[in-house]
Amino acid sequence: MLRTFEIVLTGQVQGVGFRPFVYNLAIGMGLKGTVCNNADGVLIRFNTNIDKAEEFLEAILNKAPEVSKVITSSLKEVESEDYSAFRIVKSISDQKVNIPLTPDFAICKDCQTEIRDPKNRRYGYAFTTCTICGPRYSITTQFPFERANTSMSPFEMCIDCVSEYENPADRRFHSQTNSCPTCGIEMRLNDSKNSEVEKNQTEIIQKTAQLISEGKIVAIKNTNGYLLCCRGDSHEVVETLRQRKRRPSKPFAVLYPDLDQIKAAYDLSSNEERSLTSSVAPIMLLKPKNDVSNLSKNVATSLNRVGCMLPSSALLTLLMNELQMPVVATSGNIHGSPIIHSELEAIDKLHGVADYFLHHDLDITFPQDDSVVRFVGDQKIILRRSRGMAPNYFTTLDIGDEKVLAMGAHLKSTIAFVPNNHTYISPYFGNLDSYEVLERYKKTVLNYKELFQTQAETVLIDLHPQYQSSILGNELSSQWKASIRSVQHHKAHFGAVLGEHNLFDTDEKILGVIWDGAGLGEDGAIWGGEFFSYQNSTMKRVAHFDYVPWIAGDKMASEPRISLLAHLMEGNIAEVEEKFDEKELNLYRKLVEKNSLSTSSVGRLFDTVSSLLGLCDKSTYEGEAAMMLEALAEESDVCPLDFLPAYSGGNIPTRELVGNILLAVQSGVSKSQVATSFTYTLALVIVKMAKENTYKIIACSGGVFQNGLLVKYLQQLAKEYHLDLRFNHLLSCNDENISFGQLCCYHHLKL
Ligand SMILES: [Zn+2]
Ligand SMILES: [Zn+2]
Repeated sequence: MLRTFEIVLTGQVQGVGFRPFVYNLAIGMGLKGTVCNNADGVLIRFNTNIDKAEEFLEAILNKAPEVSKVITSSLKEVESEDYSAFRIVKSISDQKVNIPLTPDFAICKDCQTEIRDPKNRRYGYAFTTCTICGPRYSITTQFPFERANTSMSPFEMCIDCVSEYENPADRRFHSQTNSCPTCGIEMRLNDSKNSEVEKNQTEIIQKTAQLISEGKIVAIKNTNGYLLCCRGDSHEVVETLRQRKRRPSKPFAVLYPDLDQIKAAYDLSSNEERSLTSSVAPIMLLKPKNDVSNLSKNVATSLNRVGCMLPSSALLTLLMNELQMPVVATSGNIHGSPIIHSELEAIDKLHGVADYFLHHDLDITFPQDDSVVRFVGDQKIILRRSRGMAPNYFTTLDIGDEKVLAMGAHLKSTIAFVPNNHTYISPYFGNLDSYEVLERYKKTVLNYKELFQTQAETVLIDLHPQYQSSILGNELSSQWKASIRSVQHHKAHFGAVLGEHNLFDTDEKILGVIWDGAGLGEDGAIWGGEFFSYQNSTMKRVAHFDYVPWIAGDKMASEPRISLLAHLMEGNIAEVEEKFDEKELNLYRKLVEKNSLSTSSVGRLFDTVSSLLGLCDKSTYEGEAAMMLEALAEESDVCPLDFLPAYSGGNIPTRELVGNILLAVQSGVSKSQVATSFTYTLALVIVKMAKENTYKIIACSGGVFQNGLLVKYLQQLAKEYHLDLRFNHLLSCNDENISFGQLCCYHHLKL
């Protein structure tokens, strides 16, 4: 008897080349049946026996396109139907679509081959894409993802493109971004006076490459926003970019033409290689082998890692093909503003920064920076989650049916939205103190409402009422008549890491180690060095770094020398007097004496040690002092010391720790060994705390865990003491995860 089976797949399975993949697989296995998209994902029906049906499902799961993510799959026998061939059939269109939006995908190998092949009709075409590559989120105007709902809608496909689009065997079957030189997107290369320099489409790329190699700075509109590009081997050219962009020392990312050039210059692990060449194509922090001879030191001053990436789009692939050298490629913006995405804005804001502009006609609706990733062994640490990763987030946690909007934090803001049964976490926006960042943040909140045609029933905000995210959350909740709840900052961090690892329902008690720069605590102090315990839907603060004075507001975060003063015992102040003039010293000493705010921030403790070692007294970008300390610590090759040998759990004696560090410096311990030992002591503190209180699982979150050496020491110690160590790995450990953490705490804690 003829038997019919049905496979249903959900997850990121639409718009990622899934149906042609299933079609070809079925043909290869000699199966007859149909495949179509349905409201939740992909539906396959076919004639065979049970063994072969199971084999088919297994093959689908094992060989699925890289950019797809199957979240659930099911196989069952259904009422018998006789198929004469295998076909891709029309979607059942009257159902409400419930598939997730996808992030942008970096250009795939096949498309790269085509644009380099003079015989191919897409030779040299800068907007070549297919079903598994190209922009998605950044060009979406409406949900679901169909050409009419994207900024590709003004471009009508030519006959050749239509025939690819309609052919189930073609790799551009139903490719919503399909276009070619005949019917596609056009570029313009203009000078700083906005006069056209080159019209010819193929010559534009060559001309741009020529300008860059001549030492010019060119603003290039990539599919996710403008990049400022210049040659990476010239100190002077990079310095010019630094001055014009008002970015004195923060490292720049470097774009390489191919993997071979990166391999030649950097130590590359297999994890790093996989990540660089993945559909995310992020900026990877890599350790140079020796001297990277064709890269100016001015690209990453005084740090021992360089942010490297490969071309994420056809445009960048073609450009780097011509250039064949490392090129600085940094977000097109002025210090602290969001990445620029429209031509008018670029001409206005980057006037005086870029010498030339490469524009094109594809509108960007959701601009995003490039994502930044590093690895410590097998541990992936996301430093910025943006292009290629955002906005979709797959969770098996029960987030419920309620439409919840979580507003996130302030410095590294994101929003999390659950409009249906999918969870979306926006890319990183940046510091909401910036007017322009705040505007983009607000716009995205409202765009999400339009995109998903629904508004939140509940709004979640941080406990800090003065965060711009909290202020906007309050406004929206009254406007939408939605309920509002606040979640403490560090509890949200803990919630995020618990949520990522699906640990809310574990019976075991879990130690939360939440260390970052600053967040308002429940006792009114500025928290940032916290230990929590989680068990049975309850989160408790169990210990913290001893409080020190929080003085001078935001200035404390940007001037590590102020943190140092606040962390020293009175008798040691003389040691740092030369870092201040007399007036400043008197002022800050008074503030320390009379302070009304106190803090347990580990971020400020890193600043303290960085200043004490003479690395950084005033920082020019967030995290600079801690990054310099990490770079120095990595230079040490002697055994680290324990600066808190008497500590065995409970609150951490902050000032005693700093006092011991000062003693070590005075007794001649090398600066690099002090830096290493400080980091090692922090790892020991965590392990001692866990051992003393019989925790087996440790969950770490907060910006401090961007420090690779701290993570490395923790990995070593956890192995030695048989502890189960968890970090954020799908989201960044910094404040970008707060919005998701707020969501998790709301659903899983008794708030
Ligand atoms: Zn492709
Ligand atoms: Zn075409």
